[in-house]
Amino acid sequence: MSGKARSVGGIRCQLICACALLINTAPDRLLTVPEKGTQAPPIAEPDSCAPLSGERAWQTMDSLARVGSRAVGKPGRSAARAIISEQLAQQGWRVTLDDFDVMHQDRVIALQNVMAHSDHAEPTSILLGGHYDGPPFDYPAVNDGPSGVAVLLEVARRLRCSPATRDRRDLAVVLFDGEEPISAADRGTPLLGSRRVAAKIRSEGLAARLRAVLVVDLVAERELHLNSDEHAPKWLQRMAQLAAVEAGHHNVWDGPPASITNDHLPFSELGVPALLIGDFQYGPVQKGGNPLGAFHHSEQDRLDKLSPDSLLATAEVVFTLVENLLASQ
Ligand SMILES: [Zn+2]
Repeated sequence: MSGKARSVGGIRCQLICACALLINTAPDRLLTVPEKGTQAPPIAEPDSCAPLSGERAWQTMDSLARVGSRAVGKPGRSAARAIISEQLAQQGWRVTLDDFDVMHQDRVIALQNVMAHSDHAEPTSILLGGHYDGPPFDYPAVNDGPSGVAVLLEVARRLRCSPATRDRRDLAVVLFDGEEPISAADRGTPLLGSRRVAAKIRSEGLAARLRAVLVVDLVAERELHLNSDEHAPKWLQRMAQLAAVEAGHHNVWDGPPASITNDHLPFSELGVPALLIGDFQYGPVQKGGNPLGAFHHSEQDRLDKLSPDSLLATAEVVFTLVENLLASQ
């Protein structure tokens, strides 16, 4: 274990921000119109069924970086949403935009989760999640947000192609909005999009149908040391470690246990097995500095710190874990 990874061990991030209040909900906006009944959506074309690719994930991450800041009020936010929605729809997922408003300092803020289901009619058993929004700065965060999205889009592509998973109707990929603070003055990580989805699952009585929620964030660093997640059930953490071995990435989970506030938490709080997959020390930790590392929420969060190999390793671990979860149901 590297010194870098060791120093993450004592992180305790508290959810502080209660400054944004959910005030309105709107029905999902459907991007691909589902037929009546429960017909499975079309399978992606064979030429898009290539093996998992770090280069392809890198291109996605790069395109999300090029849209600029994805903070509230910035045009990069809707541009990122369009890139994500288009890729998922092309892969054969049923994509909807889940609109909701929050009240923040006397302003109404419109947020949108991007939701992709293999079949809307089936309760979800495995939910893959990550956030596409950006921190409230003028520069685009790249490892924070886009790395997880890029991995999830690559895994999503394979899920619609692999013989073992392409006919599953109970899978969902959700790219959350509102993970990040709305303004720089806010403290904490509000998790607005994931809290909304978790509340919806709870109100519909579907929490017990969820076998696992896997959330991916900060996974592109060149030297990747995934932290084991202190919130996750031991059996799920163990399955994740076995999936890494099976995928040929024996040492990827060599980060220390960490307790991080991210989009898995609203599901953990529902009693749903949830796992956060990421390396939550991004750059050196300086005394009195950001406990998640000097590059986190800084202009240093750029492509030059990152590697397609780390995206590929994470995608292979996540895909293997999903396959194994489905096989063990
Ligand atoms: Zn962030």
